[in-house]
Amino acid sequence: MRNIQVREITENIKEMCIEANYALSQDMKEKLDEAIRTEKSGLGRQILNQLDENLRIAQSDRIPICQDTGMAVVFLKVGQEVHFEGGSLAEAVNEGVRQGYSEGYLRKSVVGDPLIRENTRDNTPAVIHYDITEGDRVEITVAPKGFGSENMSRVFMLKPADGIEGVKRAVLSAIEDAGPNACPPMVVGVGIGGTFEKCALMAKKALIRDVSVHSEIPYIREMEEELKDKANLTGIGPGGLGGTTTVLAVNIETYPTHIAGLPVAVNICCHVNRHVNRIL
Ligand code: SF4
Repeated sequence: MRNIQVREITENIKEMCIEANYALSQDMKEKLDEAIRTEKSGLGRQILNQLDENLRIAQSDRIPICQDTGMAVVFLKVGQEVHFEGGSLAEAVNEGVRQGYSEGYLRKSVVGDPLIRENTRDNTPAVIHYDITEGDRVEITVAPKGFGSENMSRVFMLKPADGIEGVKRAVLSAIEDAGPNACPPMVVGVGIGGTFEKCALMAKKALIRDVSVHSEIPYIREMEEELKDKANLTGIGPGGLGGTTTVLAVNIETYPTHIAGLPVAVNICCHVNRHVNRIL
């Protein structure tokens, strides 16, 4: 058994909230650079260059990439040989978010009750997803999620007969409906299979996968490439102002499902696809 003090979790989450909001991961930067090289529209290239400059300023001046610094989504993969000491794990995560959003001067965007809508003033609570894994390590991913793009996400409970073409139509319709509202170019996370909630969680996890890595399943890899190409023919373009770069990547995750269903979730993210990963 390995003992981990929960204050270590707090300290890491604090730093990760700040890091995620000030700089994008290398794979996202490379995708944006690639888009600048391949974008056909002059205005589109101009927008992409502005996004690139914005990224550089955020990183060098240590300020947020976007005013919407997101709701903190935290994934914890906890080894079954880990024992947490010193308090509640969930409270330690929330304390990290509290400190990170305060010390990093990040916008507090969370309301405590979805209908009464009073701001909690410290961006808590986080949305925490736990996975129990083998071993004695803890893997933390912090992915602050902006809601311009979150609001354009969709779940489709398709019929098995809709098949692969039905899935493609659903994903493309979500991208087209999102249009400029999702601050394109977008990263599109897709979950296919499982149940209603499982496909949504897979779509969220697909967003934190390296955008330069395709699915290991050959036909899913082909679908990722085809959907990206088709989305880039919609003409939505960078900032929704037209062009050939609407989508930077489509990442798809799959899971077994019931004989009577074909759930599909599309979690849309903007170009500020923030995620930071650490292993303790
Ligand atoms: S969708 Fe993304 S880029 Fe647009 S405001 Fe939200 S976080 Fe910022």
